[in-house]
Amino acid sequence: MPNWEGPGRPHSCSRRGVWRCASASPKSSPDTLIKDPKRRPMAVISTETEMEVVVLVKAAPVLTRDLEETMCVAGARLGEDAPQWIRLHPVPFRDLDEEQRFAKYQRVALSVRRPKADRRPESWSPVPNTLMLHETMTTNDQWARRRHLVGQLFEAPMCDLVEANRSGSGPGTPSLAVVRPIEPPVLEITERDPEQLKEWRRRADGVAARTSLFDEPEGRKPEFEVVPWRFRYRYRCSAPNCPTHHQTIVDWEVLALWRRVRNRPNWQDLMRRKFEIQLWAGRDTVLFVGNQEQRPASFLVLGTFWPPDVPSQGVLL
Ligand SMILES: [Zn+2]
Repeated sequence: MPNWEGPGRPHSCSRRGVWRCASASPKSSPDTLIKDPKRRPMAVISTETEMEVVVLVKAAPVLTRDLEETMCVAGARLGEDAPQWIRLHPVPFRDLDEEQRFAKYQRVALSVRRPKADRRPESWSPVPNTLMLHETMTTNDQWARRRHLVGQLFEAPMCDLVEANRSGSGPGTPSLAVVRPIEPPVLEITERDPEQLKEWRRRADGVAARTSLFDEPEGRKPEFEVVPWRFRYRYRCSAPNCPTHHQTIVDWEVLALWRRVRNRPNWQDLMRRKFEIQLWAGRDTVLFVGNQEQRPASFLVLGTFWPPDVPSQGVLL
C-alpha cells in the first residue's frame, strides 16, 4: 500500500505468524523471536523507535497483489507533548492470535521504523514481535477521556488538507486529520467497478486455495470476503466555498454493518439510518480522514468519532 482500500505494494512482514504481538502469550514469546527473520540485531534495531499509541482507526483489510492481507491503523501517538496523529502499516490484523487483536481506543506500545517509500510524516511500519497491549479507553463520563484525546489532535477544513497535499507528501504536510462537516453527511452506496471486483475476487480465491493446502481447518480465519459495494460520505467542510467532498469510507465497521444487514430487503435504508442519523443526531460528531500515498490529494474517511453532544466543560484527567 499504503492505499487504504486498494491494491498495495508487496511486502514481506505480514505472513501468518510473523507479525505477532509481544503481549503475554506463551505462543508469542521466545520461540517466535528466534524464528522471526525480520528481528535482526544491530543495524536494523538502531533505526527503531518505541512509541505508545491509542488506536482510533482500523481500516478494512485488503489483499495485496502477492496475496498478503494487511490493514492500516491510525491513532494518537502519546508522548510528552500533545498527542500526534500516526499511521501504522502494514498490520496483518486477522493473522494475529485472537487475544492479541487490539481494539479501537486501546493503548498499545510497539517499536516502529520509518517506511522506505512512504513520505507522509505520520507513517510508520511496525516492527514484528514488539506489540504490547494495554487498557482500552472507556466511554465513561460522556466519553470524557476519548473526547479529551481527540480534541488535542490536528484538525483542519477538508479543503485545506486537499490543497496542502496537491504538491505531494512530505514533512510538514498533514495526511491525517480530524474534519468537521458543517452538517451531517449523506451516505452514498454504489456498486464497485466490475473489473476491480474481478481482480479482488481473483486474489481472494488465491488466498483461499493457499489456505486450504496448508492450514488445519480449525485454525483457519474466516475467508477474505470481497464487498461489491462502495460506501462514501458526501459533505461540505467549514471552508468558504467548499465544493463538496465525496470520500470513500474504509472504516472496517462499515463493512461489518453491511454484513449484518445485507440480506434484508431494506439494507440500504438501515445503513443510511446508522451513518446519517444515529452517528450524528444529538452528537458532536467528527470524521477521521487520511489520504492515499500514491494520490496525496485524495482523502478517505477512516472513521467516525461520535461522542454525545454535551455542553462544553472542563475535563479533569
Ligand atoms: Zn471542503
